[in-house]
Amino acid sequence: MGLDTIVKNGLMVTESGVLPAGQDIGISKEKISLIGYDLPENPETKIIDAQGAYITPGGVDSHVHLAQRNAPTGDTWETGTRSAVAGGTTTVLAFVSQTKEMTTLFPVLEEYHGKSRNQSYCDYGFHFILTNPTETILNQELPVIAKEEGITSVKLYMTYDLYQLSDKQLLETLLACRSLGLTTMIHAENGDMINFLIQGLERNANTAPFFHAISGPKIAEDEASYRAIRIAELVDAPVLLVHVSSDGAMKHIRDAQTRLLPIHAETCPHYLFLLSDRLANEEHDHFHGAKGGLLASTSSSP
Ligand SMILES: [Zn+2]
Repeated sequence: MGLDTIVKNGLMVTESGVLPAGQDIGISKEKISLIGYDLPENPETKIIDAQGAYITPGGVDSHVHLAQRNAPTGDTWETGTRSAVAGGTTTVLAFVSQTKEMTTLFPVLEEYHGKSRNQSYCDYGFHFILTNPTETILNQELPVIAKEEGITSVKLYMTYDLYQLSDKQLLETLLACRSLGLTTMIHAENGDMINFLIQGLERNANTAPFFHAISGPKIAEDEASYRAIRIAELVDAPVLLVHVSSDGAMKHIRDAQTRLLPIHAETCPHYLFLLSDRLANEEHDHFHGAKGGLLASTSSSP
């Protein structure tokens, strides 16, 4: 049998786990036809050396906002996951979001299952956004969410009026998550700094899209990242700082990692390739720059 391509030396991840090393993937007619040891090759077989790499059935996007009630998106579950699959992503982790008036997590979890159930083209899971982490939620509901609902991560915000937590709430939630072994993602920007700047900009009618970048300066992320790290350090909890976009925040993360603290971070490609000048684009009309929107701002993203 002629295999067109063999992928060798990688560590294969399937839905049941990581396969023992040494197995190769055989591809014929653009489809995986064999997985096993010492696959037959002929002179025409193309060999791909995947030494040192994991091979997954598709991409896993661990940070996806879809159809949230307090952060609406253009995409529905159907269109968003269809795009994901078209781009090679076969698993997405989206968000269930508590809103501040909710004193229990279960109804909203069911509501978000209702949006995604039978609508998704790919595998998915949820992170829980906590905006009102009461004692009952942290001590009684979160353990059930973690153990019975398969949700093993929460996301916390230090900005946006609809989401923002106090330092005390961050401490209490991080401690609860640590005891349950949950991963905590933190959006680290100083919400009061940003609101203060927005008020001044609005007072002076500076409301064009470009001013979105001015309202979210690097110092707001710098300060909140440092605070998030020290808050996590106090309760000895691991943290993932999400969509990091500034050198100041990077420096705090590096310093923390150098001290061997369990501080992790992620960025987004658009922070590396788009700058706020995109927001100033008024080529066609005043709001043309808005198309750069969240992508181009210095440090804003849900
Ligand atoms: Zn996000």
